[in-house]
Amino acid sequence: LGGTISRALQQMSNATIIDEKVLNECLNEISRALLQSDVQFKLVRDMQTNIKKIVNLDDLAVGHNKRKIIQQAIFNELCKMLDPGKPSFTPKKGKTCVVMFVGLQGSGKTTTCTKYAYYHQKKGWKPALVCADTFRAGAFDQLKQNATKAKIPFYGSYTESDPVKIAVEGVERFKKENCDLIIVDTSGRHKQEAALFEEMRQVSEATKPDLVIFVMDSSIGQAAFDQAQAFKQSVAVGAVIVTKMDGHAKGGGALSAVAATKSPVIFIGTGEHMDEFEVFDVKPFVSRLLGMGDLSGFMDKIHEVVPMDQQPELLQKLSEGNFTLRIMYEQFQNILKMGPIGQVFSMLPRFSAELMPKGREKESQAKIKRYMTMMDSMTNEELDSSNPKLMNDSRILRIARGSGRPVREVMEMLEEYKRLAKIWSKMKGLKIPKKGEMSAL
Ligand code: GDP
Ligand code: MG
Repeated sequence: LGGTISRALQQMSNATIIDEKVLNECLNEISRALLQSDVQFKLVRDMQTNIKKIVNLDDLAVGHNKRKIIQQAIFNELCKMLDPGKPSFTPKKGKTCVVMFVGLQGSGKTTTCTKYAYYHQKKGWKPALVCADTFRAGAFDQLKQNATKAKIPFYGSYTESDPVKIAVEGVERFKKENCDLIIVDTSGRHKQEAALFEEMRQVSEATKPDLVIFVMDSSIGQAAFDQAQAFKQSVAVGAVIVTKMDGHAKGGGALSAVAATKSPVIFIGTGEHMDEFEVFDVKPFVSRLLGMGDLSGFMDKIHEVVPMDQQPELLQKLSEGNFTLRIMYEQFQNILKMGPIGQVFSMLPRFSAELMPKGREKESQAKIKRYMTMMDSMTNEELDSSNPKLMNDSRILRIARGSGRPVREVMEMLEEYKRLAKIWSKMKGLKIPKKGEMSAL
């Protein structure tokens, strides 16, 4: 996808005269990419129409400005589509506030409830969690475990089957205890959909939440609009949280959720852990949607810290997309030294999240060293091949023996290699911009 957009923009920058044909071609190509990012068809069409209105080709000055103007117009248009025009209700510290979470089962509600509570607790709030999911077995246990880990008070029941009753009891109790952020987690699945929405309506009516947050899995694809709309029709959704942004999905469904609920995205979930939760920021999100991801910062970093004579080689390897074990070895060396290239790779969030999870740097370093020991027992052929089939059982056994590490660990290292290769391959065909060129976006 990154390649597609880069190619589209590249095509545009190569054309000396940007006429309507080029603009259309470019818009079509970017639209295809946005559809692949799960942006709703109707929204993509709206974007196209608006861009054509904004970009008046005759008015554009001659020269390379045109390209910048079109890029900027697309970027701005997408940012605008994520802005419903009014901010969401913001709870105030010290003042009782009830926040109800809704969303389909598996969207990440329970996880996100805890993240939301934890986020505020760190800022000095007194949050509390209420489990009004009486549908799923184990729902209360899950919330209890999360809450206990974060030392957040919780309320729920193993026996009561009426979600409205529990929600009301929980909210009442925590109001008495002077909690200022009372979070109500709800069920996401029912035998009949209509029953779920009726239940949401009842819980909302009984607890009178100040804010209802719709939780959406970034990977639900084109279903986002209908899902968000269905919830909005039964409860007064006032904000959106998009989860699993650490996965492959670019989260274009967020545009649909904003359009359907007329509410802003307020946070994104970026992992299963409690602190993998970020305040939503429009610009990086749109960059990612356009397939430019974190590349703009990444490229700037390359230009900034990698010695000039090493830049072409690194960029060449990146754009070829072939991630061999030898490249991995070199990157490990760099990361351990935290040399310039190591710094660069720590800029790629997914790359560093895989290799060096936050808070586990020591462990990760030891792991990387173990991996390098095993790789020292590899042949040149193995190190330079990008054919995953090459590493058969007998080669794995030989490497394990040679490095004195268990076979299981060699296999684990090769799995890690595959994961990193996948991330690396995203940059294949990447047009390497000149210094500062990406900053426009
Ligand atoms: P619920 O059914 O809506 O309450 O969803 P859960 O909170 O139980 O989450 C469903 C699954 O998604 C669990 O395995 C969570 O760990 C996982 N999950 C939730 N949020 C995220 C996220 O931001 N990133 C990742 N990778 N997993 C998440
Ligand atoms: Mg749940």
